[in-house]
Amino acid sequence: MALIGPAVLCVFGLAFLWAWMIERRRDYLLLLAAAPALFAIAVAIQVFFWPASVPANALLSGLFYTVAVQIAAEAVLRRSGKRLGRVWHACAFIAVMGGLWYFAYAAPNLLARVYLQNFGYGLVLLVASLHITPLMRGRPVDRVLFWVLFAFALHFFPRTILTIGLEAPGDLRVFQDSLFWQALHLSLAVLGAALATALLAATLSDVIDDLRRERDSDGLTGLLNRRAFEQRAGAMLSVAGEAPCVLLVCDLDHFKRVNDSHGHAAGDEVLSAFGRLLRRVSREKDLVARIGGEEFAILLPGATQAAGLMLAERVRAGLSGLVFTFAPGGGAVTASFGIAERRSGDALSELVSRADRRLYQAKARGRDRAVADDCAEIPQPGPAQAAAVSTLPIRAPR
Ligand code: GH3
Ligand code: MG
Ligand code: MG
Repeated sequence: MALIGPAVLCVFGLAFLWAWMIERRRDYLLLLAAAPALFAIAVAIQVFFWPASVPANALLSGLFYTVAVQIAAEAVLRRSGKRLGRVWHACAFIAVMGGLWYFAYAAPNLLARVYLQNFGYGLVLLVASLHITPLMRGRPVDRVLFWVLFAFALHFFPRTILTIGLEAPGDLRVFQDSLFWQALHLSLAVLGAALATALLAATLSDVIDDLRRERDSDGLTGLLNRRAFEQRAGAMLSVAGEAPCVLLVCDLDHFKRVNDSHGHAAGDEVLSAFGRLLRRVSREKDLVARIGGEEFAILLPGATQAAGLMLAERVRAGLSGLVFTFAPGGGAVTASFGIAERRSGDALSELVSRADRRLYQAKARGRDRAVADDCAEIPQPGPAQAAAVSTLPIRAPR
């Protein structure tokens, strides 16, 4: 009977092992695969009473139980990017195993061993759950995981007190028929399976989130890709109502020359540095995307054209300060910007095509500049430039 629970948990262990084989960078999955196996070994050692000496059996099964609990706690923490640390684990291990040795060999006492192990494991899991309290504010699956772990940790205390009280049966057979033993294995099977299910669900959510992130992001710059930008910008505009909104499109100037003169790797270096710059100068709520080879877009919700021009100026200034390995002096790369402010009823496609037209004008006027809807321009054109511009075939603003 007592082996049914560990067998069920081992099935979860196999699921975690399989998940780890697919996602090897999630090392906590391997720990989650090992914990049920160690737990099952511990139960088997007790059930089959091997080695056939009470203190040796208590110590060996205790060793497997303790390691199983510690690595399960560590795994849950690692999933959240946290760790208990080697010193902490060593102290917990020595406290439980040292106590077990004492109450097995020096002053044999089954009741003390039962309390030591159950309270010890409850404490280890309680500390782990307290480390992941931020999950309480996370996704539903994270919240469920936190509460299941918390309940699992807490249950060790009342269950032990209520089922064994202050007296442990002296005979092993009686002990294995006792209420404590039955309740122990039932609760470990039920709560262990609940914890494993919560962990599997959380892992699945993590994998789905990662896949979504990969699908939505540009591999070189880490910014949104065109597909994700169009989807999110469309959604943003549809909920924005009449609120102002500005779109910047920017295109690196003569970028082909960088590739031709310094190689494709240098071009990639520029693209990723430019991506980082855009992220740095924009706000958290802005949508920043690489929408083409060397073309980028930033959608600024709640902003007006003036804010768009200011942002373009910050990008121009930042770009002039970027130092690349192929141009240690800096200032080797410039960009042109087209800025369009949303007019009521504008769909994303209309905003993009207006910003594209302004970008085309910025290119035609000599590059390294930003042109906005009302033909405001940064930097202000000098008289010579203005004369040159007037001869260019620029379409009139809408
Ligand atoms: P303009 O100032 O008119 O925009 O000129 P340009 O040279 O920047 O524009 P053009 O469209 O002629 O060239 C864009 C170049 O960008 C061509 C292409 O090889 C390069 N490119 C596109 N994607 C990547 C990329 O991922 N990495 C690198 N290194 N180059 C890329
Ligand atoms: Mg270009
Ligand atoms: Mg281009």
